[in-house]
Amino acid sequence: MRVSRYHMPTLKEAPKDAELASHSYLIRGGFIRQLAAGIYDFLPLGVKVLHKVQQIIREEMNRYGGIEVLLPAVQPSELWKESGRWGYYGPELLRLRDRHDREFCVGPTHEEVITDLVRRDVRSYRDLPINLYQIQAKFRDEIKPRGGLLRGREFIMKDAYSFDVDEAAAKENYQLMYKAYTAIFGRCGLDFRVVEADTGNIGGSMSHEFQVVAETGEDYVLNCPACDFTVNQELAPIPEPMAATLPVPLALAEVPTPDQKSVEEVAAFLQVETNQVVKTLICLVDDEPVAVLLRGDHELSDVKLRRALGADQVSLADDATVERVSGAVVGFAGPVGLAEKIPILADLGVQGLGNVVVGANRDAHHLTNANQGRDFKVDRFIDVRTAVDGDHCPNCADGKYSLFRGIEVGHIFYLGTKYSEAMSCTVLGENGKPQPVVMGCYGIGVTRIISAAIEQNHDDRGICWPVPLAPFEVAVLALQMKDEAVVEASESFYAELQARGIDVLFDDRPQRPGFKFADAELIGFPYQIVVGSRGLAEGQIEVKCRRTGEKLDLPVAEVVDYVARQIEQERKGLA
Ligand code: ATP
Ligand code: MG
Repeated sequence: MRVSRYHMPTLKEAPKDAELASHSYLIRGGFIRQLAAGIYDFLPLGVKVLHKVQQIIREEMNRYGGIEVLLPAVQPSELWKESGRWGYYGPELLRLRDRHDREFCVGPTHEEVITDLVRRDVRSYRDLPINLYQIQAKFRDEIKPRGGLLRGREFIMKDAYSFDVDEAAAKENYQLMYKAYTAIFGRCGLDFRVVEADTGNIGGSMSHEFQVVAETGEDYVLNCPACDFTVNQELAPIPEPMAATLPVPLALAEVPTPDQKSVEEVAAFLQVETNQVVKTLICLVDDEPVAVLLRGDHELSDVKLRRALGADQVSLADDATVERVSGAVVGFAGPVGLAEKIPILADLGVQGLGNVVVGANRDAHHLTNANQGRDFKVDRFIDVRTAVDGDHCPNCADGKYSLFRGIEVGHIFYLGTKYSEAMSCTVLGENGKPQPVVMGCYGIGVTRIISAAIEQNHDDRGICWPVPLAPFEVAVLALQMKDEAVVEASESFYAELQARGIDVLFDDRPQRPGFKFADAELIGFPYQIVVGSRGLAEGQIEVKCRRTGEKLDLPVAEVVDYVARQIEQERKGLA
């Protein structure tokens, strides 16, 4: 491709809302343009990167048994009502009506549509296994679209769905997808970790996330360096603490704590450590109020609470509920006297505590020296606090969690029969009787991969694409288009590299060298071949590696061989 005939409008300034390097460089480099919040046009360079990602995904999905289909973006509400998710999915689901007043949605995911397709065409256990995938635009009306392609409202996903006769076969398919994903992200040149994860509102019982390690990631992940157990922080388990001897109970007393609402304020006011305060969180578990006790310096993981209780939804109660249940304004709820009204759960970390400070269920008051058993009772102790960096690993004897941030680029779920039962997707088994198929589903954020790759590969001048994702692998920069020798040499590099199957861009614009350099650095071509009058007169050409900044002066005759060899090596990515 010649830049003079191409469309790559680069910009000097980043958009005001672009806080992340990937967002800023995608816009400045002329890869994407924003059409509306979280909705983007793909310009030619963006499409080239997208196609490279998609190609890698297709090759690996096909290698591990995936079969490509293409499903509609617009889906009838009836299917969502059958699965039960029409009421459950909430405002992320973009709902619309057609001219006949029938309800539809723009697909945020395709479990319903694919299950419907399969139940119509697949009859017998002999038709299984199958694993169908597609690469297609999804719409989720995200409350906070962020970071350009990182969290869009319209974005491209690869979603796959496997159908099997039984659990064992379904788990085999799951393992195949695990391998496919590992290969895909490796070939994309990403530094990633596989993480035990929550199944969220997709449902199911086993799931892994593929997290790209990045300071700017939204996900917090804990890894134990001793045994390599890696788990999303929101569900990371904590080992049961050793039994502690409780202190001798002192006399319970009510003390005024005017305006002291947070644990820190109360602790400072009463001159105790925050770990001697027990906070009482009034939560709604599937709409029922429940009290959850936590040590003052610990945080609740609502995901762990939801999973521990097998609930669909968990949230902190609204102020009115807190006031109704505790009889005090928010900040003063406590367990003493609460058991008559609602169930009291406590985190494992509360087990060994005595003589603690708790809310008094009275405005502006706390109780000191409250003790379990004597002053309040706990219905159940469960592991519900958020694990943090330095907590003991539950998986091995001597490891401790260490925290990193990640960008979730892929997620695989073992679904079981959740959808097939709800939607009667059955096959005739060997015994001639209908049985529900066993499913798995597997997503990749295709457009999110692009942002994640840039978050991991950039500097203050622009993007440093890994070769497998680069929009062009090599750029030939002709520094003086008025110098015939420069033009001739550049043309021949361009032609020879193309002949060798290398994706090359020829910057043949009449612009000055500084302008071309800046664009090449910003867009991030892995190799630049710099053809300038002076060097050429001495028979030397500069070849620059974008990632390392390394510059080599090579004789004209060696340039193509050298660059072709480098590209060949780096195309393989990390895999
Ligand atoms: P998140 O927690 O980031 O919202 P999710 O759990 O909702 O993700 P899934 O439903 O598992 O995501 O979707 C599969 C994949 O699609 C995710 O792993 C992610 O890479 C990608 N994805 C999800 N939401 C978005 C989005 N708004 N923009 C871009 N990619 C997305
Ligand atoms: Mg989401």
